[in-house]
Amino acid sequence: MSKFWSPFVKQLVPYVPGEQPKLTNLVKLNTNENPYGPSPLALEAMRAEIGDTLRLYPDPNGDRLKHAVAAFYDVQPGQVFVGNGSDEVLAHIFHGLFQQDKPLLFPDISYSFYPVYCGLYGIDFEQLALDESFQINPDDYIRPNGGIIFPNPNAPTGCLMGLSAIEQVVQGNPDSVVVVDEAYIDFGGETAISLVGRYPNLLVTQTLSKSRSLAGLRVGLAVGHPDLIEALERVKNSFNSYPIDRIALAGAAAAFEDRAWFDHTRHRVIASREQLSAELAQRGFEVLPSGANFIFVRHPDKDAAAIAAHLREHNVIVRHFKQARIAQFLRISIGTPEENQALLDALA
Ligand SMILES: *Cc1c(COP(=O)(O)O)cnc(C)c1O
Repeated sequence: MSKFWSPFVKQLVPYVPGEQPKLTNLVKLNTNENPYGPSPLALEAMRAEIGDTLRLYPDPNGDRLKHAVAAFYDVQPGQVFVGNGSDEVLAHIFHGLFQQDKPLLFPDISYSFYPVYCGLYGIDFEQLALDESFQINPDDYIRPNGGIIFPNPNAPTGCLMGLSAIEQVVQGNPDSVVVVDEAYIDFGGETAISLVGRYPNLLVTQTLSKSRSLAGLRVGLAVGHPDLIEALERVKNSFNSYPIDRIALAGAAAAFEDRAWFDHTRHRVIASREQLSAELAQRGFEVLPSGANFIFVRHPDKDAAAIAAHLREHNVIVRHFKQARIAQFLRISIGTPEENQALLDALA
C-alpha cells in the first residue's frame, strides 16, 4: 500500500496464478500446461517471422489468424475475435458485454479469475452452487441476470456439460450474453461453436494455451455473433490496438492449420488421463470424471494439503485450492507417461 495508489487500486483483489517455479528439475503438474510441445509447423512459422519485419507493427485485426480459426470451425471470420490470451479476451467480454446493474451468474466452484474481473469492472455477481456431484444444473441459470459465464469442462473440477444443457441455458436467457469458456474443450468435450449461428446471445471462448501447447505465446479467441464480436473490437481498440505480436499471430495461425499435430497430442493426453485416473482410483482416490487435461481428486483419509506438501518434497507440484468445498481436493495436470509415473512413485 502506498499514498500513490488510487482508491480504486487499493480495493482490487487480484488473481493469484499457479506457481511458475524457477527450478527446472520439477515435475510440473500444477498449471495445466500441455506436456507435449507446440506444433513443429507453428514453431517454424514463428522462426520465419523473426527478422527485419519486426520493425513494423503487426496486423491490428489479426486477419490471417481469424481466417485460420474460421476455417477450422466453419464459421465466418467476422464471427471471430482474437486476443492476448483468453484471459484478455475474457476481460474485454466482462467490460463490454456484461451488465453492471444485474448480477453476473457463474458457478460457486469455477475459474477464480471471474470474480477478479467483476471487481475490476464493477460488475455485481452471484455464484450458484454446483450439485453434490459437482455438476452445473442448467435450471439454476434461469433467473434474472446481467450475463452468464461458466467453463466447459468446468475448472478446476474437469466436469463436462453436454450441448443440450448448454442450449437450455442459452435459450432460457435471450436477453443476456451467455459465455462458454472452452479452455479445455479439446480434451473430450463437444464445442458449443456449432450453436453460435442459431443464438445471437452465445459467445464461446477458447485458448491456444492448453490443447495447442502455446501457453507461453498468449493467444486466445472468442466465436459468436458479429454484433458481439464488434463490441469486443470496440473495447480492444480503446485499450490496445496491437495485442498480438507478429510472432504470435504467425504461430497461432499455423497451430490452427496443423490439425494432425493437434489431434495426435490431445489424444495422447486423453489416453494418459484415463490411465492416471484408473491408477489413482486403485490407490483409493476419488477421481471426478474429467473432460480436461487435468483431474480433480481427493483421498478419503489423507489431507490434501499434506499430500501436496509431500509431493513437493519429491519434486512433484500439483495445485491445491483453499476454498471451502474443495479444500480436500487436488488438481493434477496430465503430464507425459513418465511424469505421471513420477507422481505415482512419489505418492507411494
Ligand atoms: C487457462 C484458462 C484460461 C486462460 O487461458 P489463457 O489463454 O492462457 O489466458 C481461461 N479460462 C480457463 C477456465 C482456464 O483454465
